[in-house]
Amino acid sequence: MKWFTEYWTDNVKFSIRIKKLVYTKETKFQKLEIYDSYEFGRFLTLDGYMMVNEKDEFIYHEMIVHVPMNVKPNVKNVLVIGGGDGGTVRELLRYNDLESIDMVEIDEEVVRACQEFLPLIAHKLNDSKVNLIFADGIEYVATTEKSYDLIIVDSTDPIGPGASLYKNQFYKDCYRILTEDGILVNQHESPYFDDTRSEMKKINKKLRAIFPLATVYQAFIPTYPSGHWLFGFASKKFTPDYRGNTDLLAKLKLRYYNQEVHKGSFALPNYVKEELR
Ligand code: SAM
Repeated sequence: MKWFTEYWTDNVKFSIRIKKLVYTKETKFQKLEIYDSYEFGRFLTLDGYMMVNEKDEFIYHEMIVHVPMNVKPNVKNVLVIGGGDGGTVRELLRYNDLESIDMVEIDEEVVRACQEFLPLIAHKLNDSKVNLIFADGIEYVATTEKSYDLIIVDSTDPIGPGASLYKNQFYKDCYRILTEDGILVNQHESPYFDDTRSEMKKINKKLRAIFPLATVYQAFIPTYPSGHWLFGFASKKFTPDYRGNTDLLAKLKLRYYNQEVHKGSFALPNYVKEELR
């Protein structure tokens, strides 16, 4: 019997029984593996950490995209940093009014492997509105002259190549290239275990020093440490209230996100509020 195991802390581990290892590659940036499993279907890991799986990826991708898209009306140009599996792009493309998505991914091998082995998630990466740029996100935001209505940082954790996407300078450059009412959303770790909670506090402190409004919202994602996961919401103008087109939302037939979830996701448990104070 074969198992994939991820250590959530020194004392807690999470294991998934696997059918087989489908693909493995030591890329220039990280160790990439794709497994097939009994419970979660196929899943991608980078340096041994779960990135996406076919069973619960809809939760993460719907929440990282539909929350900001239903706060700010008329989003036209989006910058995605990371996001190599393509789930964020797939959700963004549900909005026909959106004009262009620049996706800056450091590791082209992630994109190619997901296109081949995880097509349910990656199948929209070839869309004509998507401009794939293979570069380091921190360098891209420091040098681009373009501006964006929305930036989504769909990155790995603050270790390895993802570490630079949690730096002050990265957030300052994101602020500079956002339009005057722009929004930044990022993956913001979990409040539950000590290590991820400490990262959560650091990210929020940095964002609060730069943006007039910086808070977090939550989702329940079974395969991320503790299952209780946060996203950062940093905004120049908009409060995170729902301002969506409810008829359009009904047509999208999403599986997790709806207007009530939007509101509830910003209602934080007391211990999380306390940690962020
Ligand atoms: N949902 C995922 C999670 O939180 O576990 C994130 C998924 S996505 C696969 C993360 C992507 O960020 C990876 O493909 C990785 O190569 C990319 N990435 C890491 N550091 C980066 C950087 N500095 N610039 C651009 N992309 C980066």
